[in-house]
Amino acid sequence: MEQGQLVVVSGFSGAGKGTIMKNLISKYPNYALSVSATTRKPREGEVDGVAYHFMSNDQFEEMIAHGELIEYAKYVNHYYGTPRKFVEEKIRQGKDVILEIEIQGAMKIRAQYPDALLVFITPPSAEELRNRLIHRGTESLDVINQRLKRAIEESEGVEAYDYILINDDIDTCTEKLHNLIRAAHQRTAMHMDIIESIREDLRRI
Ligand code: 5GP
Repeated sequence: MEQGQLVVVSGFSGAGKGTIMKNLISKYPNYALSVSATTRKPREGEVDGVAYHFMSNDQFEEMIAHGELIEYAKYVNHYYGTPRKFVEEKIRQGKDVILEIEIQGAMKIRAQYPDALLVFITPPSAEELRNRLIHRGTESLDVINQRLKRAIEESEGVEAYDYILINDDIDTCTEKLHNLIRAAHQRTAMHMDIIESIREDLRRI
């Protein structure tokens, strides 16, 4: 059976990644969304084990010490990390696993999994980004400003991604992401074993 594709989705805070992920998962059966560990507090409506595995600093550092995270990073004063077990299991089962993580984590994934697909999602303008963060109403103005500052830093690392998607319409953006992942399954590196076996057979003819 073909292994699943590992997909990293990043984007400025307020880019609409969360909505696109929900859309993608509900429309197509072959995706598994990794649930990250974090030390930030739950927002209203966020359920432990669904949005994130919420935990204390000590618990998070214990996971690091035991090698239970494939990557982790600090983002605006909190730890965020990807649990190893879920990702490795689902990929083996042939699921396409999506990590919705920030840019430092994305670079660590690229180093460990060269075949991972890295996609960056952005709103069409800075104004739109700021409006979305403010209208979401989940963060204080201080945190919003820290996140906008972080967005400037992140914009400087975006060249490392394979694709950039502009989110001016949720459904269109979801379809584009799905198509990119389908295409990644056909990449040369994924199918070299077939070419090698054909070559062997041709030599025998
Ligand atoms: P939020 O607090 O808005 O849910 O997430 C803040 C940032 O942390 C977002 O850019 C999100 O993609 C990123 N993030 C979430 N989970 C992880 C993770 O497991 N690892 C890393 N490196 N970043 C993460």
